[in-house]
Order: sequence, then structure tokens, then C-alpha cells
Amino acid sequence: MSRVLVVGGGIAGLTTAIALRHAGLEATVSEAHPIGADGKGAFLTIMANGLDALRAIEAEHLVLDRSFTSNEVRMRNGHDRRLGVLSIPSPDPEHGPRTIRRADLYRVLVEEARRRGVEIQHGKRLVGTRYHGSVTAFFGDGTRLGGDLLIGADGVRSTTRTLIDPNAPQPAYTGWNIAMGAVRDALTDNHRDCYYMYFGRRATCGHITSPDGETWWFVNVPCGERDLADASPAQLRQRLGDLFAGDRIGTVQAIRATADENLTATACYQLPTVPTWSRAGMTLVGDALHVASPSTTQGASMAIEDAVTLAQCLRDVPDTTAALQLYERLRRERVERVVRSGFRKLGPRVPGPVQRLLRDRAVTRRTRHPDIDWLHLHHIDWDSDLSATG
Ligand SMILES: Cc1cc2nc3c(=O)[nH]c(=O)nc-3n(C[C@H](O)[C@H](O)[C@H](O)COP(=O)(O)OP(=O)(O)OC[C@H]3O[C@@H](n4cnc5c(N)ncnc54)[C@H](O)[C@@H]3O)c2cc1C
Repeated sequence: MSRVLVVGGGIAGLTTAIALRHAGLEATVSEAHPIGADGKGAFLTIMANGLDALRAIEAEHLVLDRSFTSNEVRMRNGHDRRLGVLSIPSPDPEHGPRTIRRADLYRVLVEEARRRGVEIQHGKRLVGTRYHGSVTAFFGDGTRLGGDLLIGADGVRSTTRTLIDPNAPQPAYTGWNIAMGAVRDALTDNHRDCYYMYFGRRATCGHITSPDGETWWFVNVPCGERDLADASPAQLRQRLGDLFAGDRIGTVQAIRATADENLTATACYQLPTVPTWSRAGMTLVGDALHVASPSTTQGASMAIEDAVTLAQCLRDVPDTTAALQLYERLRRERVERVVRSGFRKLGPRVPGPVQRLLRDRAVTRRTRHPDIDWLHLHHIDWDSDLSATG
């Protein structure tokens, strides 16, 4: 294989290109946006499994150097009563979950991809492909690019997914919007380096404060698809205030103190399964292939795992079709299980008093007996030769 075309320059696309270079393959990235990927969500958490995958391609330091540890989640109810503490599994404290600004992660991935010789082109929106032993990508600006394989890392509304299979399912709205924000020096008395998660009467929310005093918060809101995403900052602030009226929740103080320009909201989608992963010299990674609720905090880590596993398959299995079949065999069950695990967490949209009591008990039980080692302790052995598996 001489050249791989990666379509989409988000976390999945950039990591795929870096992993391909690490596997000794040529890669270019074509990104639709004129400058770069959009920055929905001010921050994200890379879990131990995501760090493990980055370590496989000698890129873990990119996250470690710019993030802080976030090893546990302190769960509380709307009366600020402790429900439990969830310790997030990791092989050791240094390689546990890390919270990073989304913009920082994009920046370092772009720099690293370029450093490893990846050409990144902006303003290139994939609109079609042709396959004749090799693949030609056609872009909206009238240009084209040829390669041996095209990897669609083009996100939730993936064009590549539809080019592979015109009947591919589309992501479904979960019934939830997520509002997010960041504010400095608003919460001074909570512990740093851990998440606080509150189960209020009408909505759930949470926050984390970085070692330098910036609090990053989120609110999960059951509502219509565009309700919050289209709201003005004033409407959003009012809506969030109403949701937590009567609750005693630490995050609310941070929400109130957040400047309008640091408030954002977006609708959340799920895509549990894509029947056809690869066809006609094309395959998929990241949100183009599976979309889990943000409550899993696994979208980025799973995208990184996809990228590294795919590069390893292409490195070890000379026949591309066989390599892509192996990639699917190694990944399908895991990624679909992650999406399912997020679906269960959504729970009833607005619980009544009895449902709230049951929910709070379930949260406490989950913190005592979490079934998440399979998710967080996943390991990619880059030195193993997958050709024997193929
Ligand atoms: C509010 C929110 C909070 C989240 N928090 C977390 C978290 O804490 N931890 C976590 O792991 N995950 C989190 N996620 C999920 C995570 O952000 C995604 O799973 C991850 O960003 C997926 O990366 P991606 O590269 O696959 O897709 P994207 O980041 O969407 O990138 C796709 C790229 O493809 C480009 N593109 C699209 N179409 C074309 C085309 N036709 N041609 C060329 N380029 C194209 C787009 O411009 C974009 O740059 C969160 C998601 C949301 C919405």
C-alpha cells in the first residue's frame, strides 16, 4: 500500500494519520473545514484505554503534557447528599483518565501529524469516490486525490458512511441536549482532579476544576433536538436556572458565573451499529462508525483505539480486504457494546419522586460494583504481529 487518504481532520482522522505513519504508511488528511475541526464541547476526558492506544504509537505524551488527572467521580443527589464515589479504572494512577481542552488536543494532534510527515489539506469536503482497484476521492472544490485506501473519519454525519452503503443508518437524536461551559475561580472549595456529578430533580450535571482553578461544567437536559442548541445565551442561562430551581447543586454556582461567550449547547446523537464497515477501497473510524452518548466519555478514546487498531491491521496484513475484515473483527463487538452502555445510562427523561429514589440507589450500587474494567483496561499490543490473527 503506498498512500492512504484520510477524510476528516478531527480526533479520529488526525490520530489515524499519525498511527499510519507509525506503521510506515503514507497518509494525507483532507478536512472540510477551512481552518480545522469544530470544537464542540470545551473539554473532554481521555480514558486509560485511549491513553493506552496513544502509547502504542508513541503519542501519549501529547495528552499527558497538557491535561490533568481525573481519576474519580463523586456522585451526589439534588440535595447535595453523597451517593457514592466511582473510581475510574486505570493500570496505574499516572495513566488514568486525563481531562484536556478540546482545542489543545486538536492543536497538538495537528502539530504531531505534520511533524511525522502527514499533509493536512483544509477546505476539502469529500463529495464522492470512484473505485477501480485504487480509490479516487472527489472534493467539493472540484479537486480530486488518488490513493490505495480511503478512511472516512468524517464524524457523525459521515459522507463516507453513505458512500460505502447508501442505506447506512443515520445517527438518532438521543432526546438529550448537553450544555457546557468554563469559568475561572468560581468554585474554590471543591477538590481538584475529580469530577462531581449531580443527579437533580429535573436534570443531571457535573463539573471538574483544573489545578489552575478553571471549572468546566456540563448539564444533560432532556428536551427537543434544537431546544438548547438554538437558544441564545440568555435563554440558555434561564433554562438551566429553571432546571435546578430548588436543588442544592455545586455546579449551579459555576453556571451562573460563566460568561455568555463561554456557554455552549449541542444535541446528542447515537449510532449503535453500522452494518457495512468497508467497501470499494473505503472504511470508517471514530464517530463516522459509532456514536455513543457523551455520558460514556468514550467517543475520543474509542476513535483513538479505532485509529491504532486499523493502522496495525494495515501494517501486518498485506491484502487490504483481509486487513479491513480483521479490523472489523477486532473492533465491532467492543464499539457496539460501548454505545449500548451509554444508552442504558440515559434513564427516564424527567423522573418522578419514586423514580428519583430508585435512580439514586442505582447510582450508589453502580459506584460499589462498577462493571467497567472491560472498557478502561483495554490494551493494544503494538508489537504483536496481527498477520497470525488474520
Ligand atoms: C458535548 C460533547 C462532549 C463530549 N465529551 C467527550 C469526552 O469527554 N470524552 C470523549 O472521549 N468523547 C467526548 N465526546 C465525543 C467526542 O467528542 C467524539 O467522539 C470525537 O470528537 C469524535 O471524533 P471524530 O474525529 O470521529 O469526529 P469529529 O470530531 O466530528 O471530526 C470529524 C471531522 O470531519 C470533518 N468532515 C465532515 N464531513 C466531511 C467531508 N465530507 N469531507 C471532509 N471532512 C469532513 C469535520 O469538519 C470534522 O473536522 C463528546 C461529544 C460531545 C458532543
